[in-house]
Amino acid sequence: MPDHLHHYIGGERVAGTSGRFGDVFDPATGEVAALCPYASAAEVAAAVEIATQAGRAWARASIAARLEVIFNFRNEFIAARDPLAQAISREHGKTLGDSHGELGRALEAIEYACSMPQLTKGEYSLNIGGAIDNYSVLQPLGVVGCIAPFNFPAMVPLMMATMAVAVGNAVILKPSERVPSAALQLSELWVKAGLPAGVWNVVNGDREAVEAMVAHPGIAAISFVGSTKVAESVYQEGCRHNKRVMAFGGGKNHMIVMPDADLDLVADHFVGAGYGSASQRCMALSLAVPVGARTADALVERLIPRIEALRIGPYNDAASDFGPLITRQAQQTVAGAVEAGIAEGARVRVDGRGKQVAGYENGFFVGSTLLDDVTPDMAFYKEEVFGPARGIVRAGDVAEAIRLVNEHELGNGVAIFTRDGHAARRFFEEVDVGMIGINVPVPVPAGYHNFGGLKRSKFGEGHLFGPDAVRFYTKVKTMSARWPEPKESADGAGLTMPTNT
Ligand code: NAD
Repeated sequence: MPDHLHHYIGGERVAGTSGRFGDVFDPATGEVAALCPYASAAEVAAAVEIATQAGRAWARASIAARLEVIFNFRNEFIAARDPLAQAISREHGKTLGDSHGELGRALEAIEYACSMPQLTKGEYSLNIGGAIDNYSVLQPLGVVGCIAPFNFPAMVPLMMATMAVAVGNAVILKPSERVPSAALQLSELWVKAGLPAGVWNVVNGDREAVEAMVAHPGIAAISFVGSTKVAESVYQEGCRHNKRVMAFGGGKNHMIVMPDADLDLVADHFVGAGYGSASQRCMALSLAVPVGARTADALVERLIPRIEALRIGPYNDAASDFGPLITRQAQQTVAGAVEAGIAEGARVRVDGRGKQVAGYENGFFVGSTLLDDVTPDMAFYKEEVFGPARGIVRAGDVAEAIRLVNEHELGNGVAIFTRDGHAARRFFEEVDVGMIGINVPVPVPAGYHNFGGLKRSKFGEGHLFGPDAVRFYTKVKTMSARWPEPKESADGAGLTMPTNT
């Protein structure tokens, strides 16, 4: 019998009461591993009530008290990395090494949140005029909703919610219903760290829970990460309900390869950043764009043996380079995208279609695939393909390569590989993409820099982590204060606009 999972509200495990559950799979075997409760609007409302109460007290806790909890959490998190990696890999299917990589990135976000006292210091101007002083302070918003995708079951929730908690908010986190266990484990760690009950809450569910969160008047802000279509609708609905919303969507990340690049290095990076985690990363390289026919032919010649050598298998087989996709539906969608690309004229250079893993015939595996001669009019080019099928788009010159990047509707990440500093600098200046790599294939910035795409990869203001996230999770209040001299007397009301002299 698969396990029945729970919510985590008010510092304890809470059973689902809606009567709705969804299957959580072991994607390598295709078997149901657990049942995830899907919260109703009433369950969301009950969690918001608890978070509101807890959040009021937490917002008033001293900076020292809050900081102690964040430091404790960091230590609990480090100690729990192995069981967390197991939970991630079991439900997501990514290799254990990949899960540990995810947790390493999450740790950066936790450690950045330890700078909260410095980051939330306000501003002060003494005597702006007439002995009046100005102060600006950052205060928490109240209850914040965080809605996460399946592909980073611990990292994305922690990137959103650790800073939100550190600056004094209470959080309702809705993990992806495909991978709920990591967030539940994190809840236990927050308790061990001494976080007051009700400040961190996990409400599991699907679209119904998301819609309830977006509409609930007790939630001040929504931070969302997921596919572009859902990100856009969450953003629009959230704004309609007068919330502060930042919503991050998908990516179609180009790798521009200049004729002077070291093509062996490029091939290694394209394979690692393109196929790692079965390409289920928003920052995965989707397309290589070699500049010039000779560069393209030489690159493809290097890519083919590397891609053919990739081993797919279950997460706990040390020989696996990457694992299965998240669901049977994802497997079918990626297979369909490859077929459509071929039908539209792309040329198959590595064919992973129908590939099976011995002993795991019911798993959601897709073999690594490379399509050449991909062109911008193809659906395979336009849409995010969230699985190990990557493409080659041949460009005549660097101007064409930049135009391709800028005309794509998504703008999450992009990379250029070159030895020419001038070309790299021009590229950085001209591309309309949020995160740019110069000889770096996955340009995810460090936890203390801003993370976020442009165009239809991000809706709303704010960044997932970094200094902008601090501003997103706080409101600014400004005070003007004057303390009259004890003997100063009023000299009548002035009705003109006061000036600072
Ligand atoms: P998804 O959009 O299917 O789901 C994301 C969240 O939204 C989940 O919690 C899910 O329960 C909820 N949801 C799904 N459908 C919904 C609907 N119709 N209405 C309301 N809520 C809904 O995304 P996913 O498949 O879990 O994650 C993969 C996607 O996330 C990819 O597109 C990937 O590029 C993107 N992603 C983006 C970033 C980024 O920083 N830009 C990071 C990670 C993942």
